[in-house]
This record gives sequence, C-alpha cells and structure tokens, in this order.
Amino acid sequence: MEKLIIIGSGPAGLTAAIYAGRANLAPLVISGYQPGGQLMLTTDVENFPGFPDAVQGPDLMMQMRAQAERFGTRFVDRDATSVDFRAKPFKISVEDESYEAQTIIVATGASARWLGIESEARLRGKGVSVCATCDGFFFKEKHVVVVGGGDSAMEESLFLSRIASRVTLIHRREEFRASKVLQERVLSNEKIFVEWNTVVEEILGKDSVSGVALRNVKTNEEKRIACDGIFITIGHMPNTELFRNQVELDERSYIVIKNNTETSISGIFAAGDVCDYRYKQAITAAGSGCRAAIDAEKFLELLK
Ligand code: NAP
Repeated sequence: MEKLIIIGSGPAGLTAAIYAGRANLAPLVISGYQPGGQLMLTTDVENFPGFPDAVQGPDLMMQMRAQAERFGTRFVDRDATSVDFRAKPFKISVEDESYEAQTIIVATGASARWLGIESEARLRGKGVSVCATCDGFFFKEKHVVVVGGGDSAMEESLFLSRIASRVTLIHRREEFRASKVLQERVLSNEKIFVEWNTVVEEILGKDSVSGVALRNVKTNEEKRIACDGIFITIGHMPNTELFRNQVELDERSYIVIKNNTETSISGIFAAGDVCDYRYKQAITAAGSGCRAAIDAEKFLELLK
C-alpha cells in the first residue's frame, strides 16, 4: 500500500512529488510512456522564474525529476491503464500490475489539439507551435499565421500582434466562436488579417516554416502564403478519459475541484492543466502541484 501515488509527470506532478518526498511520503509517480508533459514539446522556456538565460523544456523537466528522485520519489515510466476510486484503498492499474494508495494526486495535464497533418508534426518546434506565450517572442517583426476561431485563437493573435509585424488568422468558418469582445479587438487590429472559410492543407518548409498552403472550403480556391511561424490554437483536451465516471468532470471534461485541490472524491486531489482551462502555464501547474501535495499530506495526517 502506497501512501501517495501521483499520476502524471509534468510540472504539476513533479512539484507535488518534490513536496511529498520532502514530507517523507515516499511518493510513487506513474509518469507515463512520454514523461515530462507538454514542456517536452517546447524548446526555449523563457518565462519560468530562475532561468534568466532560458532553459530547454526537456532539460527543465529532467531537473525536476532529479530533484524529486533526490527526496525519495519512485517512478513507473508506463501509462496508468485504469483506476478505481470508488472504494478505499484507491486502485490504479498499470497494464498487468496493480497499485493501491491511501491518497492520489491526478496531474495528467492536457494535450493541445493538432491539425493532424504530416508537415505539422515534422516542423513542430521549428516554427510550428501551440503556445504564443511560450514561443511568440521568437517571431519579432515576422509574419505569423494563427489557426482557430475560439477565444484562444483571438488571445494568441492579439498577443502576437504586439510582437510580429503581421498576423494572418485562419478560420474554417465565416464566423468566430470567440466572445464578442475578443472578436472586436481582433477585427479592429490593423496588424491582424483574417482568412475566412479557410483550412491549412500543408505547412511549407524543409527545416523551418516558410509558408502555408491554404484552401478556401467554399470556393475550393487554393493559395500559398509566406510566413515564418504558425500557431495552432484549436483548443486543448484535458487528459481525463481515465477518470470519467470516477471523479466529477465539468462540461469541457476538466476535473472539478471542490475544496482547495480536492476533487469530488475525498482523498483524490488534482493539479495542473487537468483541472485548469484558464492559465495553462508551467509555473501555475507547478504551484498547484505544491498545493495538492500539501493537501494530500494534511489528508493523510487526519487519517492517522
Ligand atoms: P474552442 O473554444 O474549442 O475553439 C476552438 C476553435 O478551433 C474553434 O473556432 C474551432 O472551429 C477551431 N477548430 C477546432 N478543430 C479544428 C480543426 N481541426 N481545424 C481548424 N479549426 C479547428 O477552444 P479555445 O479557443 O482553446 O477555448 C477553450 C475554452 O477556454 C473556451 O471555453 C474558451 O472560452 C476558454 N478560453 C477563454 C479565454 C478568455 O476568456 N480570455 C481565453 C482562452 C480560452 P469551429 O468554431 O468551426 O468549431
């Protein structure tokens, strides 16, 4: 029986592990086949405090893991395949192995939605990004393309318009689903140009992005435009499939937090993007991982 199992190994899960390790809880982290979370997909991280010269996303995650190991965290580098939170002790299966714990922190994060075209995967991190806050700075006085029609696409376009020389916003329909106030800001911004009813067929470039091939879905007209970067902002999906019917999820499938970091089940806590659709930053995820570890420790204390 484990005192604490943490599912997920992004900034939230690893910060929780560091705090729980230092509280002598010897946490077990189910870190997944692709440990480290979304920062493993980025290059320079310039907004994580403490790194004035930037840090590579994967390096930052390796450092966090080493720090967690130093305080007695153990890792299972495989995916959790099922959970049972309906009775205590809580159970987690990792393929054919099963684990039991008195308390659990869910920190499985979220995954950005991608267009799913070959060139997008090939040029990821080489001009293709899903985060303007993270990567926008690299496009000073350049032309960038943003894809999407929701609040995120509006916010990212507005953010990028303060850095880039030109922003082309590509949306597959002829109206945005974003809130009116953000739409108005975008439509009145003289640096942002909208291509309506348009989809990205291909991202052009060999080693870095040089342009996009577009198709108008109404007229079938095709054209290519030159650009230096492309931001895919077509939504995120919280990684909560495993927890459906176990803890309460909201209408967007994010875990609902009831009391500090506790979920609808007493003893199950959540941290990071899996329960946060608003901030989605490494530093906020790390902060909530710290909170969840402190809450889990208090919960265990009360069990005694
Ligand atoms: P979203 O509201 O789900 O919007 C996704 C957008 O991407 C939609 O316009 C959608 O087009 C488009 N899209 C989806 N799949 C696509 C594909 N395969 N190809 C091309 N376009 C595609 O996601 P979001 O903008 O990330 O917002 C998520 C939630 O967070 C929302 O509830 C939003 O209100 C909230 N949020 C709020 C703020 C704020 O209040 N400041 C900021 C960011 C996010 P269609 O419209 O045609 O479906």
